[in-house]
Amino acid sequence: MKVTVIGAGILGASTAYHLAMDGHDVTIVDQEHQGKATLAGAGIVCPWATKVEEPEWYQMYAAGAKYYEQLIADLSDRGETYVGYRKVGAVVVADDPAEFAGAGERLARRTTDAPESGGMEEISEAKAQEYFPPINKKYKAFYVPGAARVNARELAPAMVRAAVALGAKFYNDLVTLQLEGKRVKAYDGRGQEIASDQVIVTAGAWASQILRPLGLDHPVKPQRGQILHFGLQGVDTSRWSVLLPMASHYLVAFDDSRVVVGATRENDKGFDYRVTTEGQHEVLTAALHHAPGLADASILETRIGFRPAPPGFNPILGAAPNIDGLIIGNGLGAAGLTIGPFAGRQLARIATGKSAEVPLDAYLPTA
Ligand SMILES: Cc1cc2nc3c(=O)[nH]c(=O)nc-3n(C[C@H](O)[C@H](O)[C@H](O)COP(=O)(O)OP(=O)(O)OC[C@H]3O[C@@H](n4cnc5c(N)ncnc54)[C@H](O)[C@@H]3O)c2cc1C
Repeated sequence: MKVTVIGAGILGASTAYHLAMDGHDVTIVDQEHQGKATLAGAGIVCPWATKVEEPEWYQMYAAGAKYYEQLIADLSDRGETYVGYRKVGAVVVADDPAEFAGAGERLARRTTDAPESGGMEEISEAKAQEYFPPINKKYKAFYVPGAARVNARELAPAMVRAAVALGAKFYNDLVTLQLEGKRVKAYDGRGQEIASDQVIVTAGAWASQILRPLGLDHPVKPQRGQILHFGLQGVDTSRWSVLLPMASHYLVAFDDSRVVVGATRENDKGFDYRVTTEGQHEVLTAALHHAPGLADASILETRIGFRPAPPGFNPILGAAPNIDGLIIGNGLGAAGLTIGPFAGRQLARIATGKSAEVPLDAYLPTA
């Protein structure tokens, strides 16, 4: 079967990879818009602490974290060993005692059924400092050893490369869609048709633009995230845990003496690709509150990403009604680096007539 995947963020890359593994004739086209979410995402994989209780969504979030083990092993077997994934553990803290107790209750309940989480334990202030040295010394914490971080700037291209090694075609271009009767047709930037039995739109925050000519009012909107990168020259940060305060900010370290602090969640800014004074102030304030030990760090860069934000927490995953050959995958919001590889596998299954591995009925495209 000929399948065209539009968008090679974490979701499209995974979809294409799974289709190529299944022997299909895959074309992946990506415009790499400024603000592509996958290039900006922090990369925390730790679903068990989330305050979101919506059962179907949480099931997918947890399945996403679990699937990483298999994905990383499969990619490694294909020679893709450099994906920035490591189980470094998470240190979960909160300023408010009730928030802290709530986090402990959720972690205890959820990690029991998730052996990949490694369980959880309450740890002292000193132990928390061992796991994340710059942390505010006032925090005792819960520790989740199976939490991970991933560098999606490495993982998504690794999946695309693996797909190409299996015969997929990949190029950069802006695709447009049109209807011919009830069937969707995809066209490249020169107006040439990209022959497809199925077209899968994984176009993130830009999806409504490509779907509009089909008469679809796609509800996913861009949510701007400004995320700061700090450098700690000469410090080995490669094994530092993720720091997850039960607030909207978080800290995650990478191999190259780097700590990333995220992020703003700005709705109604459209595709305004700018670092703003207010955004910097917000993230810096949170960084120094939770980790005063970063005061002397260098500021390396601020990345901007447009999260594909759905209404509520509902992603959109499935075949579009009333249009033949069109599948839509989108709306992974702030959790796409965790859910994306697993969700891409589900999109590949749907495209090839197999049933999804988790219930997706609530997430079907509606119009
Ligand atoms: C600051 C920030 C921090 C985050 N931190 C985390 C985290 O710690 N953990 C976590 O799980 N998630 C996190 N996320 C969320 C995650 O990054 C996103 O949910 C995920 O990357 C979305 O992936 P996507 O493939 O759907 O979209 P994108 O990565 O945005 O990719 C969409 C692609 O489609 C292409 N495209 C669009 N239209 C067309 C067209 N017409 N033709 C060709 N190509 C097209 C675009 O150019 C783009 O390359 C974070 C996000 C941000 C912004």
